Formats: sequence, structure tokens, C-alpha cells
Amino acid sequence: MPAPRVSPMPAASTPPPKSAPQRALERLGLLRDIDLALHLPMRYEDETRIHAIGPLRDGDVAQVEGVVSECRIETRSRRQLLVTLDDDSGSLRLRFLNFYPSTQKQLAVGQRVRARGEVRGGFLGQEMVHPVVKAVQPGAPLPQALTPVYPASAQLPQAYLRKAVASGLQRAPLDELLPPGTVPAGLPPLREALLALHHPPPGVAMAALEDHSHPAWQRLKFDELLAQQLSQLQAQHARAALRAPMLRDATLPQQLRAQLPFTLTAAQERVVAEIVADLGRPQPMHRLLQGDVGSGKTVVAALAAAVAIGAGWQCALMAPTEILAEQHFAKLVDWLRPLGLQVAWLSGSRKGKGRARMLAQVASGEAMLVVGTHAVIQHDVQFAKLGLAVVDEQHRFGVAQRLALRAKLESQRLEPHLLMMSATPIPRTLAMTYFADLDVSTIDELPPGRTPVVTKVFADGKRELVIAKIRDEVRQGRQVYWVCPLVEESEHLDLQNATETHAQLAAALPGAAVGLLHGRMPAAEKAAVMAQFKQGQLQVLVATTVIEVGVDVPNASLMVIEHAERFGLAQLHQLRGRVGRGAVASVCVLLYTAPLSDTGKARLRAMAETTDGFEIARRDLEIRGPGEFMGARQSGDALLRFADLAEDSALLQRARALAPQLLVQHPQAAQRHVERWLGSKAEFLKA
Ligand code: ADP
Ligand code: MG
Repeated sequence: MPAPRVSPMPAASTPPPKSAPQRALERLGLLRDIDLALHLPMRYEDETRIHAIGPLRDGDVAQVEGVVSECRIETRSRRQLLVTLDDDSGSLRLRFLNFYPSTQKQLAVGQRVRARGEVRGGFLGQEMVHPVVKAVQPGAPLPQALTPVYPASAQLPQAYLRKAVASGLQRAPLDELLPPGTVPAGLPPLREALLALHHPPPGVAMAALEDHSHPAWQRLKFDELLAQQLSQLQAQHARAALRAPMLRDATLPQQLRAQLPFTLTAAQERVVAEIVADLGRPQPMHRLLQGDVGSGKTVVAALAAAVAIGAGWQCALMAPTEILAEQHFAKLVDWLRPLGLQVAWLSGSRKGKGRARMLAQVASGEAMLVVGTHAVIQHDVQFAKLGLAVVDEQHRFGVAQRLALRAKLESQRLEPHLLMMSATPIPRTLAMTYFADLDVSTIDELPPGRTPVVTKVFADGKRELVIAKIRDEVRQGRQVYWVCPLVEESEHLDLQNATETHAQLAAALPGAAVGLLHGRMPAAEKAAVMAQFKQGQLQVLVATTVIEVGVDVPNASLMVIEHAERFGLAQLHQLRGRVGRGAVASVCVLLYTAPLSDTGKARLRAMAETTDGFEIARRDLEIRGPGEFMGARQSGDALLRFADLAEDSALLQRARALAPQLLVQHPQAAQRHVERWLGSKAEFLKA
């Protein structure tokens, strides 16, 4: 979801419809001139020189110009277009395995042509396979700079993007904002750096451009790191200025502990202590509690809630899905009702009188703990005294919901404390740099008595084998999940897929009750199916990813994930966490549809090799790169684009040192620098 942005145009007239490339630009976040100017090439093509054909050697990448002496379609082995190009020094064959009639026309005999590609020593002399070709007039001028190649997409042709970037670069205000002496020595002004990166002059140190060690690159990285440090500092200052109720109570948490059927792990004790310390301070807590699936975050949240409630303040707990919220609700009722505490339930599907009564109880302060989906943050919900907000699976809430929550919290007289929980860990370096305004607590230990899940990867051809395994599990009185993927753009197809799988399994497992659960079902029906599975009336549950979070059925010992290659690693890990909750050894089968890309293989292998969520997050980062981590691409690309924390630590140190100084001595320049770099993303960073 893109970050909300301020439209530069008055909203009075309807703007003309946008073209597909325009929309693609927006999706990439290329809205302002400066955004375009900061969209840097991933590589360059050298069209500034013409190479003579004669001296070319196998493996050279070159641009040649010559006249076509032959152009024919060869059909003997495989249909292909063969063109011979001559210059004064020799001749070269151009070979096209895929081509349009227009290519053939462009390369007619007698035509002068520029061709660029890699030279190969072919069977019949040297050739280029699929070169880039262009018909030219004799004496056509050569470009004066290397040609940039930008990250583009099918909806966003390279030529369109080049033009857009070039004009953005021309219009963007690129005046130097940083006072003299603050930019590390040897780095060029921003304008110069950008011009050099978009249009490097011929003869530039290509290697330095490519490995990003060129001073122009260094300048961009430095500015980026500085913007990020500045915005974090601003956020920290803003939070330090806020006031929150000091929540302190020992009695209620103690009573809750006495109720629990288990004792907390050492890791749980540690994070509880961190949270309790925060709650007792007059500034709002802003803490992320991360812990692997099944590490026991809910009870930590319950203890935090007990502190807040014991201190006389309300607590709200939000989960991204109705099923998950219901599970929390059930668990909290179990734990808290014996202490004489009412837990209120608020969800989107709760309407009418029931909802009105609930809202009244929340507004009067009679309901001390409110559990629900994001319905809890809707505008008609008014709290009497909200002291603590807990957001489970925080990253699964959309940006808009996160901003709504923030607005809700800020509207309180005293700002409530905020505890976010996630099973998708943020690697430490990312946490330090992007979330400097976020304190992180980590549960790094699972409750005792869990048996690690064994993960196996099979091609879909082995389906029968997998079904036989299901039969086996069911015979032993165990339960099985079968998960089908959900692809947003084709929801009905997935539904069809899940329905077919359901029918197939029901037919193949005559002795078993097979249930079906999908996102399109009404909430009540979903809950009914879930309850049947929980109570063991269903042995097999076919589900789209609605079961992703929270479901707790210890008797389930096998999970099959179909089209596993379509899921993110974090998601697979979450899903897998649904089995292995009891004492029996559990198995997770990842079915994939061949052929699988190398990346696809590496990802599934990572799943089979480790059950450690942190390790999986690390590998995910390695395989995909930080740009895609945590869905950041969709959510406004908050992560660094140019700098690399490990590689550019020297620049990071400089930026870290400069940021506080700049903020004090040149607050306006600091502000403009942040806007230049983060612009519309600044809002997102708050979410
Ligand atoms: P998650 O961190 O994935 O949200 P939960 O809070 O749902 O995990 O906990 C998973 C299961 O472990 C629950 O059934 C919970 O009651 C149980 N649990 C939590 N802490 C402990 C503990 N210290 N000892 C034993 N079981 C625990
Ligand atoms: Mg949980």
C-alpha cells in the first residue's frame, strides 16, 4: 500500500486519467522531481563509441556500425533471422532467434545500422546474438555520455523512464543544503553527483560506478544516511516531549501469574521486566516485542495489560484478523476472568445493539480490556482512559490502519503506551538504523517440551505420496492442515483451487472428515469450522492462508503447503508454526510446482534447513535483499536504497555524528534535507 501523500494539485477539478507508465511511476514512488532525480541507473551502456568490426574478439561487448550486406531467414534447424553487417575492417553476423517482421525490415540490405552486444566466436566466424540494433543515417551523432539503464518494469518502458528521469533531474531543486565543512572531504555537491551518476562522461571509472565506490555514489549514500538519522532523531525528540500515564502495579500481574498453567521462560521474564520498566515511565513506550512463532508473546501482553489495568487504566489489544483476535479473546478471558476482570470483544462484524452497549462500556471505562480487530481503532470507539495499546502481528496491519491507530493514540489527553508484537523479526542492524525510535525486546527461547518440526520439500508430482502420509497420520488419530495459496489478483481461482483440493482429499480419504476454510466465508462460518477442527471433529482442514496466524491445535502434526514457492519465507515460517505445538514430532511438507528458479530453490531449502525464525529472516534478507524485506517495497520503500549498513559504516558514523549537530545549528536545512530525501515517506515512517 503506498503511503498517503499530499497532492500537489488543488482537488477541485478531476485530473486527466493516468497512463499505464504514469501509474507505474507512482507505484515506484516516483512522484516528485527529486524522486525521479534520485532514481539511479543500475548500469550503463556505452553508446559513445563505435568499434571497428575487424579487431573484435570473442567476449567483447561493443557497438559497431556498418551496412547490411545480407538479410535472410534461415529455417533449416530453427527459424532465425541472419544478418551480415560490414564495415571497412570486416564483417559480423547478427543472429536473431526471436524477431518481428519489423526487425527484418529495419535490417534490409543496404541499410546503415548500429548494433550493440557481446561478440561470440561463432561456427561461421564472429557474431552477435540478439544485439540491440538501430538504423541510422550516415554520420549520425553519438551520445556524449554513457546511456543509463534504470530499474524498469513491463508497464514502465526504459525509454519512458529515461525521459521522465532526465526531466525530473533538470527541474528538481538540487541546491546544496549542508553547510560547508559538513560533507566528508572529497565528495562532490549533490547536483554534480547526480549528473555524474545519470550521465557519466565517457572514460569515467566504470568499476567505481559499478561497485558504488565512486565519490558521486558516496555522496548519495551519505545524504541518504543523514536523512534517515535526522528523521529518527526528530521522531525521538517528538516522543520525548509526549506525556504518558505512569502505569505501575504489582498486585494484578501477580494474581495473573498465579493463574497460569505454566511458569514463564527466562526470556519471557526478561522482556516482561523491560516492558514493566517502560510502563512506569511518564513517556509513552514504543516497543516492539519480537519472538518466534509459539514463543509465548500473548502471555507477555497479558501481563502488560494487567499492569495497566491494575494501575487503573484501560488496555486495547488488536489483531489483524478476526480469527486471531478471537483466539486472543478466548485466552485472555481464560486467564483474566478468574481475577474478576471483564474482557470486551469488539470486531468489525459486531454491529447493532451489542456494539452500542460495548462502546458505551468502553467510553465509561467499565470495560478495562478491549480485544478486537482494527475495529478497535475506528473513530466511533472512545476510550475513557486508554493507557496501553497492544498490536499483535503489527506488520500485517496496513499503513492506513497504523496511521489511524497513531492518530487515535495522539488524540488522548495522555498518550498511551504502545506495545507491538511480531513473529517476523527485524534483523538487528535494521532495527538500529530504521527503527531508532523503536525499542526492541526479543524472546529468544521457546517454552520447554516442543519438538522441532521436520520440513520436507517435494515436487507436486509426489502428491500421492503425501496423501498416503496424511492417511497414516489420520489413522493414528492426528490432524492435518492442507494450505492453499492466496494470490490476490485471482482470488476466485484460489478459491477454486482450495475447493478442488478439498474434494480431492475428501475422495482420497474416505475415513476422514475433511473441512474447508477460506477467506470468503462469513466470520461465523469460519469460526464454526475452526471450532470443529479444534475439537477434533475434522481430521483434515483445507484452508487458504486464513489460518496463518494464531491457530492453536496441539493435535495437528502434519501440514502440507501447496505451491509453497508462492509464499514468502516469513509466511511459510508462520504457517509451519501451526504444527509442532504438542509433544508429537511434526512434519511440514512443502509442495512446489516445477520448474523452480534458483532463488525459489534456495528459499525452500532454507525452510527445510532451519526452524529458527531469526535465521530464516536473515536468509530471506540475503536472498531477496533489504528492499523487499518486510514488504517495504509496497509500503513506501522506507529502507535504505543506496547505502549499505555493513559496507558504508564509515559514512554511517559521519552521518550519525552530524545529525544532532545539524538539527541544533541548522534546523531549517535539516528539515529540508529530510523532506528532500523522505518527502511523502516521512508520514509512513511514523506508522
Ligand atoms: P506466539 O508468540 O506465537 O503468539 P503464543 O502466545 O500463542 O505464541 O503461545 C504459544 C503457546 O505456548 C500457547 O498455547 C501458550 O499458552 C503457551 N505458552 C506460552 N508461554 C509458555 C510457557 N512459558 N510455558 C509453556 N507454555 C507456554
Ligand atoms: Mg501470537
